[in-house]
Amino acid sequence: KAKAQGRNSYKIFDVEMHNQAVKRMTLETDLRHALDRQDFIIYYQPIMDILNGDRLVGFEALVRWQHPTRGIVSPMDFVPIAEETGLIVALDSWVFNEACKQLAQWKIEFPDTSSLKVSINLTAQDIRQPNFLANIDRTLAETGLDGKSITLEITESMLLDDIDTTIDLLTQVKSRNIQISIDDFGTGYSSLNYIHRLPADYLKIDRSFVNQIQEAKRNHQIVQTIIALSNQLELAVIAEGIETSEQLQILRDLDCEFGQGYLFSKPLSVQEIKEKFML
Ligand code: C2E
Ligand code: MG
Ligand code: MG
Ligand code: MG
Repeated sequence: KAKAQGRNSYKIFDVEMHNQAVKRMTLETDLRHALDRQDFIIYYQPIMDILNGDRLVGFEALVRWQHPTRGIVSPMDFVPIAEETGLIVALDSWVFNEACKQLAQWKIEFPDTSSLKVSINLTAQDIRQPNFLANIDRTLAETGLDGKSITLEITESMLLDDIDTTIDLLTQVKSRNIQISIDDFGTGYSSLNYIHRLPADYLKIDRSFVNQIQEAKRNHQIVQTIIALSNQLELAVIAEGIETSEQLQILRDLDCEFGQGYLFSKPLSVQEIKEKFML
């Protein structure tokens, strides 16, 4: 059949592949320029204590790209490319610095917010940079923030290679009072062999489990199991992606301590956060 279609099908395929490659390269070039020009913006999503009267405890910093022609681009569309090209290191370091400056600013402006924390996402490449800890120390010194105001979110996939080095590094992070959260828990490859060795503070239950917690018995069981595991490991639990009050109630019944999701708030701009949560 391939023969019958002749050479043209290959040509079409080539054109398609070529277009894909050009699109990719354009995005990559755009991304480099965006980093130079700092065309990024951070949105903040509230994290709530859901067992004690839905009290705001902090925000997750979520980056967006303000593209000159495409408008706001989601991290899901550019973080993977930033990772493949190594640009993620500069981007994450910018996000870390910006989010810390913002939190420090809020604490000065609104004394009520003195105990609020900010969570920042990292990827595997970030923690392998020789200046990773030095950058953190510089930002802490510049902003005057205590490490306890900061949580770093890592994923299970970051822990795959060289677990001992990673544990060493995370231990050094923790010695600055910075907390560690394991993001998207349950979606990656995690080994029960080492999870108890990680100097982590929180497990974040992935949105995909919270999503169907009401409808799918299996998801309910998975969440229940993750919470039981967290209790065993003495980690606090944060449920991601809570969208309905039914989901919230189920999570409370399971004794899940913290939650985040559209039910409380979408990720918001600095101005919106100020209006809704600080004034
Ligand atoms: P994540 O760290 O798991 O962040 C949670 C994602 O779930 C965010 O998507 C958030 O907007 C979304 N979300 C929260 N609550 C709900 C909900 O109730 N319903 C639904 N449908 N979604 C909800 P976002 O902002 O698009 O970020 C996607 C991912 O991109 C993040 O997943 C994180 O892995 C990555 N990312 C975002 N910012 C950064 C960053 O500064 N550095 C790095 N390395 N990755 C980042
Ligand atoms: Mg996260
Ligand atoms: Mg997450
Ligand atoms: Mg997630």
